[in-house]
Amino acid sequence: MSRSEKYIKKIAGFGKFRRVFSCRRFFCMLLLPLLSLCLGGCRGQNPSAQISDVGFYFDTVVELRLNGTDDQSLIDECFEKMGQYEALLSRTREGSDVWEINHSAGEPVEVSDDTAELIALAQKYYELSDGAFDITVAPYVTIWDFPDNPGKVPAEASIAAARIHVGFPLLHLDGNTVTLDDPRASIDLGGIAKGYIADRLKEYLVGEGVESGYINLGGNMLTIGTKPGDIPWNIGIRRPFGEASDVITTVRVDGRSVVTSGPYERYFEKDGKIYHHILDPQSGYPVWNGLSSVTILSDSSADGDALSTSCFVLGLDRGMELIESLDGVEALFITDDMELHYSSGFPISD
Ligand code: AMP
Ligand code: MG
Repeated sequence: MSRSEKYIKKIAGFGKFRRVFSCRRFFCMLLLPLLSLCLGGCRGQNPSAQISDVGFYFDTVVELRLNGTDDQSLIDECFEKMGQYEALLSRTREGSDVWEINHSAGEPVEVSDDTAELIALAQKYYELSDGAFDITVAPYVTIWDFPDNPGKVPAEASIAAARIHVGFPLLHLDGNTVTLDDPRASIDLGGIAKGYIADRLKEYLVGEGVESGYINLGGNMLTIGTKPGDIPWNIGIRRPFGEASDVITTVRVDGRSVVTSGPYERYFEKDGKIYHHILDPQSGYPVWNGLSSVTILSDSSADGDALSTSCFVLGLDRGMELIESLDGVEALFITDDMELHYSSGFPISD
């Protein structure tokens, strides 16, 4: 082989090397990201990305955090859905399903699937809590008027007059038709709606491929998966009546819901007594039973929401008994002396 032939072969070899190199580079630059996108199945997926946003719905600050995506439209869609749920479930918003039920003057009302599902769930918890959770407390809720009440204790007579219009048996659900027997009866879904909505938002986000994040609806916390690196979320539980950032303990969760009910969320103080928004369906007065908060750990946030309110009304002993009778649900009760009382399977932080 002449020197010139050798030279030509060398050049040809180099050319082949370059072709191989450029093919690999092409594969790396284009195909690998495409492949990882397909495997991830998430719109706008980017493992190191993180987006979050806050809004104001259901009279409270809401916050969304999504990891592994930079697709802001996912968050925008969640806020859109929150607006729709608010328009459907608010007691005070004219034209909402709940408003229509409460102004039906005893006539049957056709409601959406979401509203019917929520009322059916509320009925389940009314029965499970032996009447402690009762969405027909709305006449009392109207009289107490939290959080707008500047500190005026309602007249005993007005609460007594409302009492005869309260009681779940006044409400009938047949498919999507709701009837209130008593024209002066009404319902309030404030004790369960945020949990239900959080579940629906998580369903949507998981369906779009989101694998990590959380939905925080005013302290109703629903996690999605774990933090990046497979680290569980560490959720702070507020010290009752402390600053919003004052955490009494934390709980580690992956994908579960952490919901707390407490008087400190909506209350006023008069003559040394705390008047708050969690009401005893029997008396129409705030529940005073030595509890400062109840936190529920569960898969479904609607269950957690209904149970936190139920257990707060039931008190430590009966509430704990209810939790211990249920599978997959744990609770932390905090008493007025700031003692922490855990259910048997609660994952207590070290
Ligand atoms: P939560 O913060 O989830 O415990 O819900 C408290 C809210 O539920 C109140 O602000 C009322 O709107 C409503 N509520 C109050 N007392 C009860 C009760 N006994 N059963 C069901 N809902 C209630
Ligand atoms: Mg609740």
